[in-house]
Amino acid sequence: MAAYGDRRMLSGMRVDIPHPRVAIDPDTGERYLPVPLRGTALLKTPTLNKGTAFSRREREEFDLVGMLPDHVSPIEEQLDRVANQIHYKVSDMDKNIYLNGLMDRNETLFYRFLIGNLEAMVPLIYTPTVATSCRHWSRIYRRARGVYVTPRDRGRIIDVLRCRPRAAKPIIVVTDNERILGIGDQGAGGMGIPIGKLALYAAAAGIHPTRCIPISLDVGTNNAELLADPLYVGYRQQRLRGEEYDDFIAEFVAAVQAVFPGALLHWEDFSNRTSFENLSLYRDSVLSFNDDIQGTAAMVVAGLMAATRHIGSKIADQRIVIVGAGSAGVGIRDQIATAMVDEGASRVDAEARIMTLDSRGLIVEGRPNLSRGKAQLALSLEAVKNWQIEDHPIGLLDVVRNARASVLIGVSGVPGVFTEEMIRRMALHAARPIIMPLSNPTSHAEVTPASAIEWTDGRAIVATGSPFPDVQYDDRVHRIGQANNVFIFPGIGLGVLTVGARRISDRMFLAGSKALAGAVTAEQVESGQLYPSISDVRATSAEVAKAVANQAVAEGLAAPVDNIEARIEEDMWYPEYLPYRAV
Ligand code: NAD
Repeated sequence: MAAYGDRRMLSGMRVDIPHPRVAIDPDTGERYLPVPLRGTALLKTPTLNKGTAFSRREREEFDLVGMLPDHVSPIEEQLDRVANQIHYKVSDMDKNIYLNGLMDRNETLFYRFLIGNLEAMVPLIYTPTVATSCRHWSRIYRRARGVYVTPRDRGRIIDVLRCRPRAAKPIIVVTDNERILGIGDQGAGGMGIPIGKLALYAAAAGIHPTRCIPISLDVGTNNAELLADPLYVGYRQQRLRGEEYDDFIAEFVAAVQAVFPGALLHWEDFSNRTSFENLSLYRDSVLSFNDDIQGTAAMVVAGLMAATRHIGSKIADQRIVIVGAGSAGVGIRDQIATAMVDEGASRVDAEARIMTLDSRGLIVEGRPNLSRGKAQLALSLEAVKNWQIEDHPIGLLDVVRNARASVLIGVSGVPGVFTEEMIRRMALHAARPIIMPLSNPTSHAEVTPASAIEWTDGRAIVATGSPFPDVQYDDRVHRIGQANNVFIFPGIGLGVLTVGARRISDRMFLAGSKALAGAVTAEQVESGQLYPSISDVRATSAEVAKAVANQAVAEGLAAPVDNIEARIEEDMWYPEYLPYRAV
């Protein structure tokens, strides 16, 4: 007999009751939910539980009498209660645990609270707090959420996925946990990322929580601390590598297509190597994208569009230096080149205006031991032949000086690499230097906004990866826009799923960037902000979704759909308690 878990087939039967669809009473026009659950089962289903908000009629009809305190609370009262409880949590981690608990009890209330308090809550449910949550996952673990797939499931991943409740047009956020944010291999703790990202899909783009499927490919961990931790909840083995890993991913992707046809597969926080490999293997055959590479790039391009529009210039006129040639840097370079071509530049001219550096300096033709991937980013020798170079290999200061950089983008993860000398140099030839220290967390930023603004005599336009406070310089207050991917990926998801796109093209990302840049007002850019306020993210996501969906149809990647704009608005779920009727 096979040992438990050794590829024994699961029943493969769906065991769920599908989430009820909103119905409309033909006589009164009232919208309601036909609900098949009763009593405790209803109270324990987070997508349906209303807690103290169940009306007296519902309490009678659904066998809830005696299971709730007497008073019927409207949602506003429940929201006050949540605010009160959050207030008494001391640390951000306590608040994160509380909010996740609320999500597990009552998703309508959780999302309503989140949407009403985005600015304060997004940092608690996602970066930076989610990093701590992933790190301590095995210690704070409370309740199952999402799907864990391990090497024990090889040969039966399709059955594992079938155990998950069905959903129409789902979004899957998947990670293999190897490179979680800036904190590396977190093993099973990486699950905090898909859960957090999907909470943002639901809040920012109205993707109903039942359509959100977090998946951790728990292929083991090379994090020695976790392997030695008696409380570690994950698959306690070294990481699967090589052919075995590739086969595992291939089986997973095939299972997703079989079990969730038409799903959007969002790759997140894979290692640098596997993120590019998976993306290039599957981006043309599966509706999928990698947010670290493509979402980040689309968001940076949107910021550049807003900044250059404000200073009366074009992206194609800039001389752009990208510091860091990992997932973010490579994606940013490609998408900036696409944006320049869209503005009329040739691909060759566009690529010659973008200089990329890694930890060994400028990536330039002829640099020894350039990998195949990096060779594609290399600046030509011709472009540097007249440069006055002080350092070998060519360092950042040399690049800024010789290229007369007007845009500096930091995705190196290294704090402080944008020095005073570099930024003062930039300010000599750029009237409005555009400076984006995007590395997270806050302590890893390549420069602080306050320094960048001071060293350019208040002329720099700054956007950061982590939230930074406003900067007062002379008589002006500079607002610091946060280049948060939440402005892009939820809208992409909403757009592609609304029209049923087959895949996501670079031009669809470009359309998303234009829509995002269009959502930033002249006043916001004037005050220094390159991105909208997070409190406006739902309206922004709707605009991004419309642009992406229209582009998909224009490129023939989705069948034409009548009135895309209205369909997108209709597809956006807003958390509210509808009356329930028993079925
Ligand atoms: P990564 O590990 O894939 O890449 C980091 C790159 O930086 C590597 O190419 C490395 O060689 C290079 N590097 C290291 N030291 C350097 C130095 N001194 N000078 C120049 N290059 C150097 O990581 P990633 O996914 O590309 O992310 C990089 C950073 O960008 C992280 O801190 C991440 O938090 C941040 N990021 C921010 C956003 C955002 O703001 N929305 C999005 C994505 C990534």
